[in-house]
Amino acid sequence: MPPTLRLYNTLTRTKEDFVPVDAANVRMYVCGPTVYDYAHIGNARPVIVFDVLYRLLRHLYGADHVTYARNLTDVDDKINARAARDFPGLPLNEAIAKVTEATTAQFHADIAALGCLPPDEEPRATDHIGQMQAIIHRLIARGVAYVAEEHVLFHVPAVAHLRAAPKYGALARRPLDEMIAGARVDVAPYKRDPMDFVLWKPSRDGIDPGWLWPNGAPEGITRPGRPGWHIECSAMSMAKLLEPFGGGLACDDPQKNVFDIHGGGIDLVFPHHENEIAQSCCAFGGADGSGRMANYWMHNGFLQVEGEKMSKSLGNFVTINELLETETFGGRKWPGEVLRLAMLKTHYRQPIDWTVKALEEAEKKLERYRGLIKNFGSDRPANPSAIVVQRLSDDLNTPSALAEIDAIARRANGVVGSLSDDEIRSLNSATAIEAQTAAANELRATLLFLGIDIDAEPEGAVNLLFEREVETKIAARLDARRVKNFAESDRIRDELAAMGIALKDGKDPASGEPTTSWEVKR
Ligand code: AMP
Ligand code: ZN
Repeated sequence: MPPTLRLYNTLTRTKEDFVPVDAANVRMYVCGPTVYDYAHIGNARPVIVFDVLYRLLRHLYGADHVTYARNLTDVDDKINARAARDFPGLPLNEAIAKVTEATTAQFHADIAALGCLPPDEEPRATDHIGQMQAIIHRLIARGVAYVAEEHVLFHVPAVAHLRAAPKYGALARRPLDEMIAGARVDVAPYKRDPMDFVLWKPSRDGIDPGWLWPNGAPEGITRPGRPGWHIECSAMSMAKLLEPFGGGLACDDPQKNVFDIHGGGIDLVFPHHENEIAQSCCAFGGADGSGRMANYWMHNGFLQVEGEKMSKSLGNFVTINELLETETFGGRKWPGEVLRLAMLKTHYRQPIDWTVKALEEAEKKLERYRGLIKNFGSDRPANPSAIVVQRLSDDLNTPSALAEIDAIARRANGVVGSLSDDEIRSLNSATAIEAQTAAANELRATLLFLGIDIDAEPEGAVNLLFEREVETKIAARLDARRVKNFAESDRIRDELAAMGIALKDGKDPASGEPTTSWEVKR
């Protein structure tokens, strides 16, 4: 029986048993990067955290039964500004494409180095403008959005008039005045209510990319425009996690218009995720707006650097690429698996302090694991530790999982912690070696399960592993012969013969003890 997965749900502020809508189609959406610049190490945190969850879900439900979508936000004012700055001679759309393509390629390279699997779906906002427009039409039709001065705005107070719609603020749980204060940052004269947010806005000629409405624009929209940020995620999650499974705008069953997990950094809770819920529930949550878009809302804590908030002005802003490829942080480059291990040392909901010291510790640990696997492991396949899977199933408790990995490492090192000296003496040498090899193999498989490929096979290592396996078997055969269990010793000799190994028995000239040498048969 696999362990029950429990996840902390920001929506209910409790740890809950995870019950998928459909165990044959587990679905997770995570807000991805805005592609205008190198991703910083804080951006790497949600990518790594939800990669661990993705691996765990695949383990628990089967790789073919999980769909993970992580979007690319490729429409944004920051992209437009970067395009104008870096490619002033190019037409706008070409310049934008250059920025988003280069940044996306860099992002992919960075996170691959951090051991992250590609998601099943990686929608780009610009490929889903049509769906955003369709959702906007639906919201207007349902009376929760309106047109004003070439904008379409979501009217927050209108949600209250839909009978079953989740209350605005249900996720963020902020007092109304705080939400209003937050929204006031960009209070525009055309807003009916200060909390109203933008679904669509007009494009400035030559500055912003702009889209027309091929299927008809809402009344009052006459110029090309572009989407607001929040609607992008409602449209992309619908396109990738609802429509292919029978949900979406064409479906009026609110039960079909909900997916399982929605994730991102804690800064996205308000307003981004609150607004996504409002839009999605009002557009396809049933005519009364019922539903909750996703059942489990998960948020990673923030990363700071050497005790301070990371910011360009403080000079402690560090990109994934700088850590991997340059000597910016701590005066040296860092391997991706060291960065990943350091990230997983802290539970995902806690703030993490990114320090040179923590990276050095992670590196030391990995070197030790690597040595143990190289010296004691074999190439026999092994399963990841069931205890580690269990620890991860408790709301991704990576610190506890890593403590268990240390215990496996101690076993691989021959430290049989829970046994008495007598018990250890009574273990014969073959059993001890076998246990050590099994622990080393389990260590490798478990690290791999966490996305850390220890790469213990530099040149020639495969032979070393093979030798190790042969010698373990020979020791077991000698043990069997010592207790006159010849059936067993013959069985092992045949097993070795099948591996192409010929044995030669002899005696140690000094001690008189039986010995066995071996060679590969030609
Ligand atoms: P952005 O490109 O700013 O929208 O961020 C992409 C993702 O990185 C979002 O899920 C953010 O919540 C997350 N994020 C941004 N900064 C940090 C940070 N310092 N620590 C942890 N997560 C962050
Ligand atoms: Zn989003």
